[in-house]
Amino acid sequence: MQAWDVIVIGAGAAGLMCAAEAGKRGRRVLVLDHGKRIGRKILMSGGGRCNFTNYHVEPGAYLCANPHFVKSALARYTQWDFIALVDKHRIAYHEKTLGQLFCDDSAQNIVDLLVAECESAGVTIRLRSEVLNVERLGEGFGVATAGEQYSCQSLVVATGGLSMPKIGASPLGYRLAEQFGLKVLPTRAGLVPFTLQPEDKQTLESLSGVSLPVVVESEDGTRFAENLLFTHRGVSGPAVLQISSYWQPGERVCFELLPAGSLAGAVAESPNQELKTWLARHLPRRLIEALLTRGDLNSKPLKQYTPKELAAVEHTLAAWPLQPGGTEGYRTAEVTLGGVDTDELSSKTMAAKKVPHLYFIGEVMDVTGWLGGYNFQWAWSSGWVAGQVV
Ligand SMILES: Cc1cc2nc3c(=O)[nH]c(=O)nc-3n(C[C@H](O)[C@H](O)[C@H](O)COP(=O)(O)OP(=O)(O)OC[C@H]3O[C@@H](n4cnc5c(N)ncnc54)[C@H](O)[C@@H]3O)c2cc1C
Repeated sequence: MQAWDVIVIGAGAAGLMCAAEAGKRGRRVLVLDHGKRIGRKILMSGGGRCNFTNYHVEPGAYLCANPHFVKSALARYTQWDFIALVDKHRIAYHEKTLGQLFCDDSAQNIVDLLVAECESAGVTIRLRSEVLNVERLGEGFGVATAGEQYSCQSLVVATGGLSMPKIGASPLGYRLAEQFGLKVLPTRAGLVPFTLQPEDKQTLESLSGVSLPVVVESEDGTRFAENLLFTHRGVSGPAVLQISSYWQPGERVCFELLPAGSLAGAVAESPNQELKTWLARHLPRRLIEALLTRGDLNSKPLKQYTPKELAAVEHTLAAWPLQPGGTEGYRTAEVTLGGVDTDELSSKTMAAKKVPHLYFIGEVMDVTGWLGGYNFQWAWSSGWVAGQVV
């Protein structure tokens, strides 16, 4: 049996950050991953350019049963710390929108950064090593893969969430938490496109490819100003991905297509113009046609609308309701909501409170960020704080 100080399960964003930090402290660290490549999710993130953090990271951008939990780690290892690391490795990057930072070149830059940090800290990474079993071994742990048995003093679970099973997502982290008596909160897909009810699919399918800026709102009042994209399967785009994390089956979401009051001057200005002609100045024509076909709107010369009818049109455009049929699920979701209950973990170190030397970091925990680099920042911050103590 090979003995290590620290074993990290998962060579993803959180696991590699933790491993490098622990290695710098002189710990002998082994990272195990069942994949063929290091950091597979990083490589496909941000359209291949990895949105690695966000200028505006703050605790309010995270969903967690205990909203205070993320504060300590985000304050100890901030977006500025990760940006400094990116600068140290001379990686060129740019702000795309809303504080989102992307590599100029490729997400491979971020994987190379993490591998270089691990190498200089003496970390060993073993790929094609699926962890099959973990057991308590004295004060530490025994870890079994298909071909090897290892022991370690500290075990870090960095196995990520359930999204994208094709690139290595597995439920191992949740299983281990339960094995050691830690509570796991129910999981569901987040940052994911919506599918449509059959009747909406009929009237909205033709809009595939139409995109427009909206403000989307969930039933709990959460709002995002982002783009809405109609697809052949349903609705997507950043607005939908963001709100999907706040949506529960059966609920509606509302899209502000035009802000309330937009029609105020229109009647006086162009009394003879049809509503649909006036709207075409502000909204894609195909969307207007679909709204008319569905009966969400009717069109006649503006002067023929009574004040009550105009108010109804304004209301429809300011809060166009849609009840999704569901989501596309883990197949296309960027993240997994829920996971290891943070009440079971120390917010300073990510250690399991009732199992000495066991740690959970990154997405496997019940911490989910907004779209826009927030999830990687959680991986960096939680991985870094654990790396100081494992
Ligand atoms: C398509 C896509 C794009 C994304 N883009 C962005 C973005 O631009 N910005 C952003 O902030 N977030 C993005 N995310 C989310 C982000 O990738 C994750 O939140 C982040 O990778 C989580 O890091 P992690 O280390 O916790 O888990 P992961 O990065 O998922 O790493 C977990 C690792 O554990 C390994 N593993 C799992 N089970 C086992 C096992 N049984 N044995 C051994 N190894 C195992 C996996 O192979 C994997 O390498 C994106 C996600 C997806 C799916």
